[in-house]
Amino acid sequence: MTRPQSLRPELIDAALTSARSLGTPLWLYEAEPIRQRARQLAAFDCVRYAQKANSNTHILRLLRSMGVMVDAVSLGEIERALRAGYVPGTDAHEIVFTADIIDEATLARVVELGIPVNCGSPDMLRQVGRARRGHPIWLRLNPGFGHGHNRKTNTGGPSSKHGIWHEELEDSLRLADEYGLSVVGLHMHIGSGVDYGHLHRVCDSMLDAVRRANRPLHAISAGGGLSVPYRAGEPEIDIAEYYAAWNKTRLAAEQITGGPLRLELEPGRYLVANAGLLIAEIRAVKKVADKHFVLLDAGFNELARPIIYGSHHEICFVTNTGAPVAGEPRPIAVAGPLCEAGDVFTQHDGGFVEFRDLPLPQVGDFAILRDAGAYGATMSSNYNTRPLAPEVMLDEGVLSVIRKRQSIEQLLDLEADGGVV
Ligand SMILES: *Cc1c(COP(=O)(O)O)cnc(C)c1O
Repeated sequence: MTRPQSLRPELIDAALTSARSLGTPLWLYEAEPIRQRARQLAAFDCVRYAQKANSNTHILRLLRSMGVMVDAVSLGEIERALRAGYVPGTDAHEIVFTADIIDEATLARVVELGIPVNCGSPDMLRQVGRARRGHPIWLRLNPGFGHGHNRKTNTGGPSSKHGIWHEELEDSLRLADEYGLSVVGLHMHIGSGVDYGHLHRVCDSMLDAVRRANRPLHAISAGGGLSVPYRAGEPEIDIAEYYAAWNKTRLAAEQITGGPLRLELEPGRYLVANAGLLIAEIRAVKKVADKHFVLLDAGFNELARPIIYGSHHEICFVTNTGAPVAGEPRPIAVAGPLCEAGDVFTQHDGGFVEFRDLPLPQVGDFAILRDAGAYGATMSSNYNTRPLAPEVMLDEGVLSVIRKRQSIEQLLDLEADGGVV
């Protein structure tokens, strides 16, 4: 599958129908591309969805129906997985909790439900061990280097807070044994964005870690970080090559442990990014010097990737009849409503505003921000007291609301009658 150059008319129709019915801004997802992505990863023994990319329970249910397992990074994400029908406490390990810390409430819940804990710090190992002897754990290792599409998505190396530092592996295993913990496997997630040079380094590190662990294991996990195209013409990653490198690692690791090892993959973005759109209405078109700013009713409280990472999202303007806005392309920056200079969707890393060559739309037209299915709705906030936007799913021609718009009343209710502490 390659990323289509332009939005299909059917999708623009769905966007406008949703906007008329629910107002803007809103998120629109397509089910079929998510299924397609899940099928592309079928070679792996276990695909474990990192739900922080998009944790809507309807998307979790869809992925569960495809045989995809789930990762949770908070108590809230555990509850989401349960709501979506994932069954904890069986040998299938449908839910795994991954983090660098665990709070008491989450600890009580994982112990109660028998959810394996992927430990990212020796302190976390101790806390799980004290809570329950024999609890199943994974070790999340920082191999000493990392990779990311941005410094903020690099999750390995000496400047990363994530995982157990590779030199602490033996001490961590000693701790696990001291508390009688059952070590399921070793895990490495070094960041977002695939670089094949790095891939082989990670595979070598995993093999080294398996050798040093020197014990039977059930599984190894390659983590997530599979990249997706965000720009027209950007290539898809080669899943066959990715799988081949990890499968080779798994086979070599099995020679060391002397038993079968389950190969897990933990993608977030890959499964959902290209399947989502953010739809907003154009509320102002201003001339600034010799350029234009197009202002939307969506801001970084909805889609934060541009302001946090300088991420690129392609933007299409359509009229309220669904026709692409026509006209000579000219330099345009696309921005939001927030009282904040950085509330600009077209910006490079470091906050430099990018003027893109786009046809000039009019007030009342719509802006469609593409590839917003991952780290879009889940990173939204209530900044400027803006309620969370609704989410809609398009599946076989049917549009369903999978999350209602939050109301301002719901927001204010949290502040009513708090009582004395
Ligand atoms: C965020 C995260 C992932 C998924 O990362 P993607 O880049 O979305 O694939 C996988 N594993 C862990 C532990 C994560 O924190």
